[in-house]
Amino acid sequence: MNRIPLVVGNWKMNGTRASAQVLLREVSAGLDPFRHLDVAVCVPFPYLETTVRELNATRLAWGAQSVSEFDAGAHTGEVSAGMLRDFGCSYVLIGHSERRMANGETDVIVPLKTTAALRAGITPIICVGESLAERKSGATTEVVLKQLDAAINGLDHAHLRSCVVAYEPVWAIGTGLTATPQQAEDVHEAIRRRIASVDASAAAALRILYGGSVKPSSAAELFSQPNIDGGLIGGASLVAADFLAIAASADQHLGK
Ligand code: PEP
Repeated sequence: MNRIPLVVGNWKMNGTRASAQVLLREVSAGLDPFRHLDVAVCVPFPYLETTVRELNATRLAWGAQSVSEFDAGAHTGEVSAGMLRDFGCSYVLIGHSERRMANGETDVIVPLKTTAALRAGITPIICVGESLAERKSGATTEVVLKQLDAAINGLDHAHLRSCVVAYEPVWAIGTGLTATPQQAEDVHEAIRRRIASVDASAAAALRILYGGSVKPSSAAELFSQPNIDGGLIGGASLVAADFLAIAASADQHLGK
């Protein structure tokens, strides 16, 4: 099964409207040589309008970093999946470890947000990953599969096929530490096997991204692993040259 590789930038809460505009232009202008992959950026909500304007006629897709589990109503400060669709979002991050830790995005909330995104036709990027203590105690696979099971609980097969999963070890996010290619591959393989136990063809088609301090220098080895289908890139997505170098690596190692 040929999976189209996917590289997604997570800008987090960085930049200004002006710097966002520059970065969007630089990244979208640099994607032309890469024909074999999907690329997207998840921008802060207030920059979605600028993003729509800048990217409409380009092949750089965009998304958001969170979504409400509710479709509408008295939820002050929240943003619905329908609103994201209004702004042309193709993707939304769900269950990012920063939101699991600081914003109550628990294993109960993650499936609700996942189905809210799917109802609106937006691809959820479901983030899973273990803490350093969990890795050290040998609980990595158990923790990751528990998060995965919770996220896909109750999804019908069509919806399962529309999901992307990102494996992001918590200890590797923003720390400069990266999982070794073998550590990442072992978890990705376990994720694919678990999805295959539910739906073999969904598992074959599933794009599983690795995230955690990916840099241009570490991308090639990670993307050479059989079950790594792309990357979720935080810090390096804020520097156009670095993000494009990672995209080039995905194009070279995954996309042919
Ligand atoms: C992330 O925020 O999802 C991430 C992987 O960040 P970084 O690449 O900076 O570790």
